[in-house]
Amino acid sequence: MQLIASTFALAFNHLPRSQFFILGSLTIVVTLAVAFWRPYVCATVVAPPANSVIPLEDYHLSKLIAETNKNLEKPPDIDADLTKNKLNELIAGEAAGVHEYLVSTGDTLISLLTQDGIGIDDITVLAQSYPTLRNLKIGQSLSWRKTADGDLQRLTWNISSRETRTYDRIEDGFQESITNLTGEWRNTIFTGKINGSFVTSARAAGLTRSDVNTVIKALQWQLDFRKLRKGDQFVVLASRETLNNKKNTQSQLLGVRLRTGSKDYYAFRADDGKFYNRDASGLVSGFMRFPTMKRFRVSSNFNPRRLNPITGRITPHRGVDFAVPVGTPVLAVGDGGVLVSKRDIAAGNYVAIRHGCQYMTRYMHLKKLLVKQGQKVKRGDRIALSGNTGRSSGPHLHFEVWINQQAVNPLTTKLPRTEELTGSDRMEYIAQVKKILPQLQLN
Ligand SMILES: [Zn+2]
Repeated sequence: MQLIASTFALAFNHLPRSQFFILGSLTIVVTLAVAFWRPYVCATVVAPPANSVIPLEDYHLSKLIAETNKNLEKPPDIDADLTKNKLNELIAGEAAGVHEYLVSTGDTLISLLTQDGIGIDDITVLAQSYPTLRNLKIGQSLSWRKTADGDLQRLTWNISSRETRTYDRIEDGFQESITNLTGEWRNTIFTGKINGSFVTSARAAGLTRSDVNTVIKALQWQLDFRKLRKGDQFVVLASRETLNNKKNTQSQLLGVRLRTGSKDYYAFRADDGKFYNRDASGLVSGFMRFPTMKRFRVSSNFNPRRLNPITGRITPHRGVDFAVPVGTPVLAVGDGGVLVSKRDIAAGNYVAIRHGCQYMTRYMHLKKLLVKQGQKVKRGDRIALSGNTGRSSGPHLHFEVWINQQAVNPLTTKLPRTEELTGSDRMEYIAQVKKILPQLQLN
């Protein structure tokens, strides 16, 4: 018995509870909830949410705060009638033998059930048959009912607003049944004008955070969201799910039209989940692997720990060197905007180009610059003539690729590719666009 108990203690990592700990955890949870979402903006890199972060909805958070207050045994600061109703509910629940609990920091299946006097043998059988029960998350609710003898009769685990698992006592253990709710999907149009940033304007028009991110990601290669002007218009068609009469449980963006100045930009979702242009061509502008017409020999590879031939110190070589004769045309490897085009002591004459939200390429030791800062370039455009300027030991072209502010190996890194729909996928997509397009009317 002792062995089982200690095994459980290890498996469930049961933490001691104290008021101080709960307060501290709540602070962390609130901080996480605030920090969890950041708009997809070009200036900052959006890190995917870490697995350890638990997304908390406002609903969960308010419940959690209520639960914490309860644990602190502070008198709830709410309307007297409400308190009475809650009390009645609680009494009714207790009378029917149903115990409800909202999972809080440090809770485990074993800690919750043993506190209510349920025997460890039952809990052991349950947890061994259904190991997923070890993954209780803060904010989920558990309820259980006991037999007349005080044994566990039924355990209900509300995993999310759409998934519930129930465990019923059977002859030799427990049986699991899973209920998944599906909501009703309905298409909705959202229109708005830019006033401030795109993110705030789109949120004000009723788009969800994920809708906003989808729009920016889909159109990042077509336009610079930071250059939108006040009064620019947008219209979005999204499919929204209604579950248990709660709106906006889930949202899927189907089409967007954005007008800046007198130019319209469109993106529509295809069945593959990607976004394409009105004519079914990809919105992502693909990259060339090499910044020259011809392939040249690599004279020095990408190497984060290279011994610099000129300074004699270990300094990262953030790009790749091509043995290119002076005067060779240097080409932009993708569509973008010129960030820098100037002379530098180390880099010599150099050009930096920004592509979409995440990519940047740099070209160094050039003889002649052919583009100006702020200029738009297309893939394959001549941006310079190669040379031997700056800290350079001979004629060559130094070429860098950066992704999310990190230099990567230009010869091996995965580069954006132009995607295109073909065959029946394309036909279906175009039929879909024909249906959506007339709905995207600007005010
Ligand atoms: Zn180099």
